[in-house]
Amino acid sequence: MTGPEHIQQPRKRLFILLLAIGGLLVLGLAFLLWWVPSVGLENIHPVLPVVFGVFLTILALFIVGSLGLLVLTLLTGRDLFLLQSLRGLVVRYLFPAIIFLGKLFGVDRDILQRSFIVLNNQLVHTRRLRVPAERTLILLPHCIQMFDCAIKITGDVEKCVRCGKCDISGLLELAQKFGIEMAVATGGTLARKLIVEKRPKLIVAVACERDLTSGIRDAYPLPVVGILNKRPNGPCFNTTILLSEVEQALEEYVIPAAGGGEVL
Ligand code: SF4
Repeated sequence: MTGPEHIQQPRKRLFILLLAIGGLLVLGLAFLLWWVPSVGLENIHPVLPVVFGVFLTILALFIVGSLGLLVLTLLTGRDLFLLQSLRGLVVRYLFPAIIFLGKLFGVDRDILQRSFIVLNNQLVHTRRLRVPAERTLILLPHCIQMFDCAIKITGDVEKCVRCGKCDISGLLELAQKFGIEMAVATGGTLARKLIVEKRPKLIVAVACERDLTSGIRDAYPLPVVGILNKRPNGPCFNTTILLSEVEQALEEYVIPAAGGGEVL
């Protein structure tokens, strides 16, 4: 996962706080939406305000219930989303709405996206998945390769001669140890193409906050474990990775292929 628990806690609290504010806003909005037109609706038919009120109450309870379920899932560490579609609504729409809300409150976008990634990882964790190595894909950004490396590894990471100048060699070793396929994507379009081609059941993705956030949403319902890269030289240039984070994720989710395997 993405770092020690004590580092993740403040991000988790921030997100949960925003979730709670979101819930209150929904309730307030639902009340206003009912109260304002009801003054006029009554003139059309006396029963219309009640019908409209019931509809809005159900909608508001559904949204607030989803928020509550998400908070409980995060707090208990157990998957309480019995319906896949409900989890989908949360990942696809609720998380981005919360990020939008955070932006309105002036919270830094990178911090919010990191929260999203940490919480997404926690949601994946609660599902207690164990996926065969051959159905797992490690997806890397191109910037993790040393910028002046003459070898073109996009399309075939196995071309790397493992000189050790960048983290590709260490990642290849890990992939080989578990028998997992690894690929480098130069952008979202190529990443989507790789997912369609290789049809993985789990993705361990390394990228920056922005790419991971959009990748997790795009790939849903495919579970994606997001691991942030480090950018000691600035964005998109000679980025690095904590290999132990990748290894930890693989150990948690992957059933290794017997005796490792080919890295494709
Ligand atoms: S480890 Fe591989 S990709 Fe990285 S610089 Fe060396 S040959 Fe190039």
